[in-house]
Amino acid sequence: MIPNQHPPESHLLAFATGQGDVSLRILVECHLEACPACVAQVLDVGEAGGRMLRSMPPAQVPADLWAKVLGRIEGGVLPASAHYPIPETISRLLPQEPRWNGILLRGFRFIKLLEETPREAAFYLVHLTAGTVFPGHRHRGLEESVILAGGLKDGTTRLEAGDWASSAAATCHAPQALPDEDCWLVARMENGILFTGWRGLLQRLSGQ
Ligand SMILES: [Zn+2]
Repeated sequence: MIPNQHPPESHLLAFATGQGDVSLRILVECHLEACPACVAQVLDVGEAGGRMLRSMPPAQVPADLWAKVLGRIEGGVLPASAHYPIPETISRLLPQEPRWNGILLRGFRFIKLLEETPREAAFYLVHLTAGTVFPGHRHRGLEESVILAGGLKDGTTRLEAGDWASSAAATCHAPQALPDEDCWLVARMENGILFTGWRGLLQRLSGQ
């Protein structure tokens, strides 16, 4: 299926020219794996851009990435039965025994894959069981994500595998996994989120 929602052109240009931080590049890569239209756009950078691309080494994963990832993993181990074929782009970021975190919500869990200093960006693998509603929250910075499998309803927007989603700072929403299939996604979030409701109260009390 061809995605309906695409990253902004500035992201494709940044990807094509080797700019942007690691998590943004991986996020774009996840979308490109499902989107021939954006692949064509990335390749269509003109003769000068093409020459420049060919002369550049491929983007490298930072040497300390594993240490960062391993240092951040807490919570339960991912049961083998819960695996869906996670793309190579993402699975290379996972430790051998991925451990999940939660937010006291049945049906929702996440693994932080990496953190980057500019704009306090963090990159997550997220799993929602079919029909799970992610609690209402407000974004403290930009969030961008790509659906890997299954789908999500976000307000009036329906997102499916390969779709790119973007929530600006100060956006409030409560997305829900589609009812018939688990949803897997990767998300890059700047400056985190503030929950509304009782989770927000706990969050403020704990100074997060
Ligand atoms: Zn696209």
